[in-house]
Amino acid sequence: MKKDILTLSDKIRFECAPGNPCFTKCCQDVNIILTPYDIIRMKNALGISSEKFLDQYTLIIYKEKKLLPMVLLKMNEKDKKCPFVSKHGCRIYNDRPWACRMFPLEAVEEKTYRIIADEDLCLGLRSDKEWSISQWVIEQGVAEYDHMNRDFFKIVDSLKRIEPEMSSPSPRLQDMLCMCLYNLDKFREFIVTTTFLHKFDIDLHKVNRLMTSDIELFEFAIDWIKFGMFGEPTLKLKGK
Ligand code: SF4
Ligand code: SF4
Repeated sequence: MKKDILTLSDKIRFECAPGNPCFTKCCQDVNIILTPYDIIRMKNALGISSEKFLDQYTLIIYKEKKLLPMVLLKMNEKDKKCPFVSKHGCRIYNDRPWACRMFPLEAVEEKTYRIIADEDLCLGLRSDKEWSISQWVIEQGVAEYDHMNRDFFKIVDSLKRIEPEMSSPSPRLQDMLCMCLYNLDKFREFIVTTTFLHKFDIDLHKVNRLMTSDIELFEFAIDWIKFGMFGEPTLKLKGK
């Protein structure tokens, strides 16, 4: 019997291959929400800045009274295809976003999943190839994404909790939060071109790492948000 909620030990039958008549059809007219780590991987795979990536490949949508936007992968205007799909498959396969890795599954809660694709459209679901969900998740390289997304989703939850206390978030605050999380190259520029380094006590080795590692910079951005928005002692002001 088909279970709606799947755990890591459950099994699915699935194989996505170029021979499937549906090959790449799932890369068209689809809503793919990007996380900050998706953007780090994709912009680095493309060799462009986060600013250029956001401009060229995303739609940034704010809902009323929300501190953070939803960042969607923008489909081509003409044919509604993903800009990265080719007849041979995904051009950035090794750095494809989390949602694409998980398809035809989606996460429900921590370590629980469900199939979201329709067997009549996603013909890979008719394959005989069997996977346990845990095998599938390993094969798709999801663990690294889950690790990076964990802190992000915690911050998203914390920000959601304070939204009702704010009558309407200022566009400046929204821009700042969006920059810290999604536009890391701009955040890096912000750190070195403003009084930031005069205000915060950050040792030189750390500054050097922030200038070269997107992962360290992302973790630092989270710490700065915790400090600035929630008063957590994650950063130290100079002279205090
Ligand atoms: S629809 Fe399913 S089987 Fe077909 S290409 Fe997409 S993921 Fe693969
Ligand atoms: S990023 Fe790759 S896998 Fe995801 S929709 Fe685009 S082409 Fe398909």
